[in-house]
Formats: sequence, C-alpha cells, structure tokens
Amino acid sequence: MSEDKLPSRKDNFAEWYNQLVLKAELADYAPVRGCMVVRPYGWALWENIQQGLDRRFKKTGHVNAAFPLLIPKSFLEKEKEHVEGFSPELAVVTIGGGNVLEEPLVVRPTSETIIGYMYSKWIKSYRDLPVLINQWGNVVRWEMRTKLFLRTLEFYWQEGHTAHATAEECEEETQRMLNVYADFAINDASVPVLTGRKSNAEKFAGAVRSYSIEAMMGDTRALQAGTSHNLGQNFARAFDIQYLDWNNELQYAWTTSWGLSTRFVGAIIMTHGDDQGLVLPPKLAPTQVVIVPIYKNDDEKSRVMSVVSQVERELQVFRVKVDAREEFTPGYKYNHWELRGIPLRIEIGPKDVEKDSVAFARRDIPGRAGKSFVPHTQLDGQVAEVLQTIQASLHDRALQFRLDNTSQPQSLADLYDIVQKGWAETWWCGSPDCELKVKEDTKATTRCIPFDQSGGEGSCIVCGASAKEKVIFGRAY
Ligand SMILES: [Zn+2]
Repeated sequence: MSEDKLPSRKDNFAEWYNQLVLKAELADYAPVRGCMVVRPYGWALWENIQQGLDRRFKKTGHVNAAFPLLIPKSFLEKEKEHVEGFSPELAVVTIGGGNVLEEPLVVRPTSETIIGYMYSKWIKSYRDLPVLINQWGNVVRWEMRTKLFLRTLEFYWQEGHTAHATAEECEEETQRMLNVYADFAINDASVPVLTGRKSNAEKFAGAVRSYSIEAMMGDTRALQAGTSHNLGQNFARAFDIQYLDWNNELQYAWTTSWGLSTRFVGAIIMTHGDDQGLVLPPKLAPTQVVIVPIYKNDDEKSRVMSVVSQVERELQVFRVKVDAREEFTPGYKYNHWELRGIPLRIEIGPKDVEKDSVAFARRDIPGRAGKSFVPHTQLDGQVAEVLQTIQASLHDRALQFRLDNTSQPQSLADLYDIVQKGWAETWWCGSPDCELKVKEDTKATTRCIPFDQSGGEGSCIVCGASAKEKVIFGRAY
C-alpha cells in the first residue's frame, strides 16, 4: 500500500493534521518558509467555500471588486492602532525595477487602508452610501509560527469593506455579516460555531468592536473561523472619508470590514476528520459520491461496468466520480477515497448486479455500521437523503462534542483545569487584567463574549468583582 496510515488523531493530533493535509493532497509546503501551495483538491474545497459565501454576500447586496496588492507604507501609518497591530508582520518592498523606491511599499496584510483611500475619493454625498464591496484575494502576514491552512505567511481570503451614513447601519452591517458567516459554517460546513463579541484585547487593530465565529476543533482547541469588525469612524478619519449629509453638512462615514480565509479549510479538517482521514460535509465536498466497481474477470467486468455507467448517469445532479482504475484493488480505492473524505461511496459488484441493488458506505460512520444495501431504484432520491443525513449528523456530532467539552468553572483553579482540556464558560468582569492573568497562567484566551447570554449577574472568576457577561476561555489556534 503506497498510502501510509495516518498517526492516531487521539495520540498526536498535530501530526495527524499535518500528515492528513499532505497525504490527502490538500496542500504542500512551499520553498519559502511559512508559505503553502494549495493543491487542486484543497483548492476545489476552497472554491466551494467561496461559492457558498459569495452567494450569501450577493444576496445581502454586496458586489466584488479588486484592489492592489501593494500599498504605500505611509497608508498603514495613518491609523495608530492599525499600524501598531500590523507592523511586526509586514513584508516591505524597497526595490522595484532595480531602483530603490522613494516610498517603501507593503504587501497588503489586509486592505482597510488602500480601500479607505479609494472610498475617500468615491464617497461625496449621502447618496453614495452605503458602499458594500467585497474582495477575494490573498494577503501576506509575516508569521513566525506557521501551520498549513491555519496560519501561513500568505493566505487566501475574502475581505468585505463597507461604508455607511450612520453608526446604527454600520453596527447592523457588522452583525449581519457575522451571521452570514455563522449561517455558512453551520449549514454548509456542518461546523457549529459560537457567535459573539471579542474582548478589547482580542479585537482587530483599529476596530471599535470585533465579532467572531468560534469553533471547537477535534482536540478541543478553539479556532477563530471568521471575524467582522465595526471600525466606527476610525478609518474614515484616518483616510478622510467624508460625505455631505441630508442637511448639507460634512460628516465622517462609518465603516466595517469582515473576513474569512483558507483557515476555514483547517476548521473543516479538524472538526470532522478521523483516523482514516478527511471527512467532508456533502455540501462542500468537491466529490460527493465515488462509485467503485468490483469484479474479478472480464465477464463480471462488462456486467458491472454497464450498471456503473447507468448509476453514474442517474446521479448526474451530484458531484460524482467513478474510480474505474484497473491498476488498483477495490480495497486500495476505499482507503484512497476515505482519506480524501468523500461523503458517500457506492460499491457495485456482480452480486449487487444480480440482486439489482448497490452498496452504500457512509464516510462519517466507518466500517460495517456505515454500510447498507439499497435497491437500485430512485437512486438519486436515496443519495440525496443520505447526503442530507450525513450533513446533519456531522453538525450534530460536532455540536455535541463542543457541549461535552465546555464547562462552567466554580473557581479559578477549576478554570485553569478546564482550559487544559476544553472550553470554560464563565463570568468575567471585563477587566483586561483578569483576562491577561488567565492568559499568562494558562495560555488560554477569551474567545468571545457569546451573544447568547443566560442573563443575570455573577462574580468574575478571576477577581470576584460583579460581572454582567459570561465569556468563553479556551486555548486557541
Ligand atoms: Zn475580574
């Protein structure tokens, strides 16, 4: 067997993840440290993520555009918190065409500044608002510790940038887009996410308020899977985005930005994957159904292959692949497609042909338990039903896992214990000192202050002061 087994997910989650990404041919390491090559299979998955999001962006009134990769360095310096946040991660171009540049350029780490600059030219009046633009692209952040998909020096993403006439509209947009992310994560990726507000220490550099969707990975660590920022008038002031309001008075616009990246591929892998490899949610799987023919001789082959072709035609509404390779055994093919996470395998052998049935093998339930024999009638309906069931059960399983690994600590010691093996949901007074103490002692950070609050009041788990909100503490990627 040319495809070696993966390390056990339970014993060595980090190595399981790395090897899965390589062996399933999702991505590979690039010659420059920290960069990744997204291979065709990984890119196909990303394309399906893009489509799921893009459809939702357009439905909520957004349009796509493209802004340049290179940004004058001085732009970054216009918003104080923004430059402080991003300076250590900047890649700076100082030579172009063999000449030292008069002004250094940065390779965009994010595009608020260049887009803010353009908005100041385009927005003159309240009639020009709102501006609802999204960009699909890549950015560079000089990360020191990298991991394929989760944190790479260059990554792919979308960044939405909007401008509004009022603070209320701006806040509404920020939350709307967070909900779009949550809807996509839950319904398309079967990744249950918590929605909430970031603490001040964890918010985006330059934002008034940041919101995130947070997902629990298979090792109980948290992954921030998408963020939405209310930038208030900070960038409008820095870039002079002003408009004449209804009373003909000059006002600064209110802006937002929101992003989701190739990191989400990592979220899918680490939420659903198992010891056999990737497990993909049917809605995003590049291939939803793989058909594996089984035969021993030419006579069997001709009978089996004619049914295989027929089944392939019947299932054309799905993304179907027939693995008719002659040089590999069926067992090899099972492993091959299991590693790649194809949600449903259909096996067709001479006995199935005889009985006019086919065998289904669900990827989310390995082995015999996930197998069933179904009559060869209305296969498209049966496949649709199984894929829906898989989509839902992946979500429910992941949600149950998160609930099972989230606890309410009774004391600080209890909190420190809980964050070693899961998430803690607890009262927090809101003080950055209390947050920092937990971070320094345990490496756990506040993930978000969930929108879904039980209400009431309690005392801060760290200092005992009165607290009105509960927060999630967890170790994060
Ligand atoms: Zn406190």
